[in-house]
Amino acid sequence: MREVLLAKFGEIYLKGLNRPFFMKMLMRRIRERVKDVCGEVYLSDSRIYMIDVKDMDECVRRVTRVFGVHSVSPAIEMEKDDFEKIKETASRMMDGVSGTFKVLARRSDKHYPIDSPEINAQLGERILMEHPQLKVDVKKPQNVLNVEIRDSALLYLKNIPAYGGMPVGTNGRATLLLSGGIDSPVAGWMIAKRGVKIDAVHFYSFPYTSERAKQKVIDLAKIISESCCGVRVHIVPFTDIQMQIHEKCMDEYTTILMRRYMMRIADRIAQKNGSQALITGESIGQVASQTIYALQTTNAVCSLPVFRPLIGFDKQEIIDIAVKIGTFETSSLPFEDCCTVFTPRHPATHPKLEKILECEEKLDSEALIQAAIDGVEVIET
Ligand code: ATP
Ligand code: MG
Repeated sequence: MREVLLAKFGEIYLKGLNRPFFMKMLMRRIRERVKDVCGEVYLSDSRIYMIDVKDMDECVRRVTRVFGVHSVSPAIEMEKDDFEKIKETASRMMDGVSGTFKVLARRSDKHYPIDSPEINAQLGERILMEHPQLKVDVKKPQNVLNVEIRDSALLYLKNIPAYGGMPVGTNGRATLLLSGGIDSPVAGWMIAKRGVKIDAVHFYSFPYTSERAKQKVIDLAKIISESCCGVRVHIVPFTDIQMQIHEKCMDEYTTILMRRYMMRIADRIAQKNGSQALITGESIGQVASQTIYALQTTNAVCSLPVFRPLIGFDKQEIIDIAVKIGTFETSSLPFEDCCTVFTPRHPATHPKLEKILECEEKLDSEALIQAAIDGVEVIET
C-alpha cells in the first residue's frame, strides 16, 4: 500500500493516430515540472502515476498547472486481491469526513471477481457501519469515494481540477506582445494552453519607463513561464521610435502609429524565431487603439496571423483569469508603460489609412526598425 498522485488527461482522449505524440509530450512536461518533488512518473492504463512524492501539496500545485492535465487525485494504491483490506482502507479514508457520501467504483479489469455495483454496496455498508455520522446520497453526495480497479486498486476522495488544454510544444510557436498590463499575460497563457510554445516581445522606453517597469514584465513572464515551459523575453528599445513619432506626427495618431511599429518589429522577431503567429491582449473597443477600425490598421502591417484570444472578453472576465493564473497582482503594480508615457489627449478612434501613411512617410521607418531590432536584449525566464 502506498500513497500516489494520479493525473488524468483531458482532450488528448480525442486524438487518434497521433495520440502517442501528445502523450509523450505530456509525460515530458510533467516530468520536467516535478523532478525535484517526486521519485518517478509513469503512464499505465490511461492514468499517469507519480510515486515517491516528497511534497504532495507542491506536487499537486505544479501538476495542475501543466497544460494537458485535466485533474489530479492524491490516492491510496494497494493490491486489488485482498478485498477485505480494500474495505478496511476505504473505511479509514472516511474517518473525519462528515455529511453525505457515495462510493463510485470503476473496473477497467473486467476479470475482477466483484463487479462495480457490488463494490459500491460492500464498501458503502462497511463505511456506514463504522461511521454512523455519515449518510448515503447517490444523487448529490458531498463526498465521493472513488475506487478504481486497474492493475492495482486505487482509492481517492479528491478530484482536483487542473488547467486542461494541450501539452506545450504540440502546436507550434507564437510570439506574444507582452506589456506590463493585465491583458497580454492572460492572452499568452490562453494560447500556450492550446499547446503553443510562447516567446515574448516587450517594448521599453528608457528613460521614460523605469527599470522597475521592465522588471515587472520579466516577473510576469516568469509567472506564466511555469505553465508555458519557459518564456524567452525580447526587450526592444522603443524610445527613438516614440520620440520621432511624437515630434513628426499628428498627436491624435501617435498611439496607432506606435502600435503599427510594435507590430512590425514583433512580426520580424517572430519570423526570425520560427513563430507561426503573433499574440496580443487586445479586446474590441477596450481603448481607442482597439476600436475595430484601429485594429484593422495595426493588423495591416503584419505578415503573420495575429491571435487575439481576448477579443470578445469584458475587462472583468480578463481579470478573473488573471487572478486565477496569478498574474493580476503583479500586473496591477503602478509602473508606467511605454504607451502611457506618450498618450495623446484625443486619440483617433477612426484612424484613416491615408493619414497614417502620410505620417509614416516622414519617418525613416526601415532604419528605425532595424536599430530597434539590433538593440534587443534577450532574457530567459
Ligand atoms: P495590456 O493590459 O495587455 O497592457 P492594454 O489594455 O493596456 O493591454 P494597449 O496598451 O492598447 O492595451 O495594448 C494592446 C496590446 O498591445 C497589449 O495587450 C499587448 O499585447 C501589446 N502591447 C502594448 N504595450 C506593449 C509593450 N510595451 N510591449 C509589448 N507589447 C505591448
Ligand atoms: Mg497596456
